[in-house]
Amino acid sequence: MRVLIQNGTVVTAIERQHADVLIEDEKVVAVCAPGTLGEIPVDTIIDASDKYVMPGGIDVHTHMELPFGGTFASDDFETGTRAAAWGGTTTIIDFAVQAKGESAMDGYEKWREKADGRVAIDYGLHMITGDINEQTLKEMDLLVDEGVTSFKMFMAYPGVFYSNDGEILRAMQKAAENGSTVCMHAENGIAIDVFVEQALQRGETDPVYHGLVRKSALEGEAAHRAIVLAELTGVPLYIVHMTAKEAVDEVMAARDRGLNVFGETCPQYLFFSLDELDQGFEGAKYVCSPPMRDRAAGHQERLWQALASNDLQVVSTDHCPFCFDDHPELGRQKRLGEGDFTKIPNGMPGVEDRFEVIYHGAINEGRLSLNRFVEITATAPAKMFGLYPQKGTIAVGSDADIVVFDPNRVHTRSAASHHMRVDYSAYEGMEQTGKVETVLSRGRVIVDGGQYLGRPGDGRYLRRGFSQLLI
Ligand SMILES: [Zn+2]
Repeated sequence: MRVLIQNGTVVTAIERQHADVLIEDEKVVAVCAPGTLGEIPVDTIIDASDKYVMPGGIDVHTHMELPFGGTFASDDFETGTRAAAWGGTTTIIDFAVQAKGESAMDGYEKWREKADGRVAIDYGLHMITGDINEQTLKEMDLLVDEGVTSFKMFMAYPGVFYSNDGEILRAMQKAAENGSTVCMHAENGIAIDVFVEQALQRGETDPVYHGLVRKSALEGEAAHRAIVLAELTGVPLYIVHMTAKEAVDEVMAARDRGLNVFGETCPQYLFFSLDELDQGFEGAKYVCSPPMRDRAAGHQERLWQALASNDLQVVSTDHCPFCFDDHPELGRQKRLGEGDFTKIPNGMPGVEDRFEVIYHGAINEGRLSLNRFVEITATAPAKMFGLYPQKGTIAVGSDADIVVFDPNRVHTRSAASHHMRVDYSAYEGMEQTGKVETVLSRGRVIVDGGQYLGRPGDGRYLRRGFSQLLI
């Protein structure tokens, strides 16, 4: 099987060139000046004139079918990864869950069962270690052997996923020993819960209070504490979904001191603010943790700046959708929290939106270069989590995970036209220029000109190596 992508502008994290890309079976076998390949028989030709040819997006933070607050994230591995493909993402890393009292290996196997045979694109797994004990620490070594080389803990959600500082320290020591990375949800959940209780006592039940009780200083404090613990143990630390300038400053200071500390943010924090939360119960559509921040306080501009300066390295989605209105099969989701913001399932859709909306904010709005766009959406995520150069670039020998992108196509984002299994779009009505047109996953065209050509089970599990971004 040979596919030729002809006459496009090939963009990687470091280059931009007018070139043809030749694919044989699953791999890229040549990237060369247009027309210089000679007479090679090919099965498929894709004309990419006036288009960008870019590495498929890598979204390292998704939660398909996550159990949360008495319900499940509405996208499963089949619908969620298909939607990802539509949006130009060809690899996800999802979070398998070890709940309290369960074995981490069991959690891993459960997630493999949910995903294998159903995913549209390749996927890897992180492990949420929700119960740090002797058994879990041993299992962390076994998981590394399975290609799960990153472990996530929560300084938030007491009574659910929360780990205390001692548990975090032990897990960090183990991760430092076996070479893996610790991912941290950095918010001081113990302090937040006090503000939550006081807000409810005052009768403050609307979604906007979700944003007001989860104070940005408590994200900064938790980031600082996580960094101190990471420094003491020598483990690489990756702080997930950062929203607060206080936390960004902590990561920047740590990196300036030469520590292996990394940060991710998500599109919702780059586009939305407390204003979206503050529209009565409609605001529930934007409830996720950490929350949207006060626009006037400058958090958003700080996040964009940090992406430009490489103080933040990755944009992922934290895709964790819940339907706004009651769903015939899934039942009540966001509406569980009517009259009490603490009962609103935390999470937002985004896996299909990320590539195009970040393109919009980065390129159309003039904040980042095209190379940097590729870097934060594909190359750095691949390196951060041990998938490079199989994933995250267009080069000889790399998997042919490729997006043909039309930078001139104007379109409007809407729940009516998206493919995620959720009844609203956070970006409803947003007009933008630039659209994913054709998507290849390991050399096979799975999206083309408005048609889905893939099948459930096209994707494979990725056994990941260790982080390749370490100093
Ligand atoms: Zn998450």
